Amino acid sequence: MGEFELIRHYFAAAACARAGEGVALGIGDDCALLALAPGEQMAVSTDTLVAGVHFPEGADPLLLGQRALAVAASDLAAMGASPLGFTLALTLPSVSAQWLEGFASGLDAMAERCALRLVGGDTTRGPLSLTLTVFGSLPQGLALTRSGARPGDLLCVGGRLGNAAGALPLVLGQRRAAPDVAGPLLAHYWSPLPQFVLGQALRGRASAALDISDGLLADCGHIATASKVGLRVERERLPVSNALQSLLGLEGAWAAALSGGDDYVLAFTLPPEEEATLRAEGAVFFVIGQVNAGEGVTLVDRHGQDITPTIRGYQHFAETP
Ligand code: ADP
Ligand code: MG
Repeated sequence: MGEFELIRHYFAAAACARAGEGVALGIGDDCALLALAPGEQMAVSTDTLVAGVHFPEGADPLLLGQRALAVAASDLAAMGASPLGFTLALTLPSVSAQWLEGFASGLDAMAERCALRLVGGDTTRGPLSLTLTVFGSLPQGLALTRSGARPGDLLCVGGRLGNAAGALPLVLGQRRAAPDVAGPLLAHYWSPLPQFVLGQALRGRASAALDISDGLLADCGHIATASKVGLRVERERLPVSNALQSLLGLEGAWAAALSGGDDYVLAFTLPPEEEATLRAEGAVFFVIGQVNAGEGVTLVDRHGQDITPTIRGYQHFAETP
């Protein structure tokens, strides 16, 4: 199968590649054309997943397709954007119909859940890697950036933390667990759900936001730096799932919640007066700390004792000491 036939069969013909709102021209020309309503801005983000780095070489292609798009789309949710479309740059070592079919259906399923249209891409030969660029829209001036947190704001997260970190040893085959424990953790790892509804509800309310991809402490550090404030996290308020606690115990679950990556849950700062309105609208979130006038991220135990760890999260190119 040649490059063009492959593109046509697996991607241009996929359900997620059909024309739709906001997509004036999709796959097939030199560029796609996206339409923005007057007064809207475009949000753009790219993520690359490399075999052996971000997922195991033999990963199930359907799960991989789902996860690759979810990971990319989560950045749109974190800005408060509404989904528009995405492109896929796919590098494959060889053409396997079975692999491509699985991958395309995983991609399709997540595209459906996120309301994202596949509008273009590139297909090349080489070591397996996936680059997805996502496009979204939002009213001018309402994007949720990292830089607006103010002392006195609440620090909140949009879901339970650490599940994906708990799943990793199961994914890598280093550990086994009973189905009722493994199931929810693996589901979170392979199919994180970008928090679009929450992100859009936070427009004009949250003072700063991001999605947690490298661990809570590391990512909160980005808000602290960009906003020039300090963040205080209370360990006992960290929301962790029963499955994660069964696997790792409470201390282990806290550690996964604080430093584990791949959660793709939103973290945001909220002026306290916004909390009740947001909850009344049905938003589900957990308050885990506060913003203060200091700097950096501090972790405290239930006595208010500083227990900030030194290792914070994953970096591809670690800083030299
Ligand atoms: P060009 O050479 O002009 O860059 P290509 O031959 O690479 O175009 O691709 C032809 C069309 O197919 C383009 O519209 C491109 O966006 C789309 N395309 C290529 N690869 C993919 C892919 N993996 N998924 C979706 N669309 C793709
Ligand atoms: Mg090309």
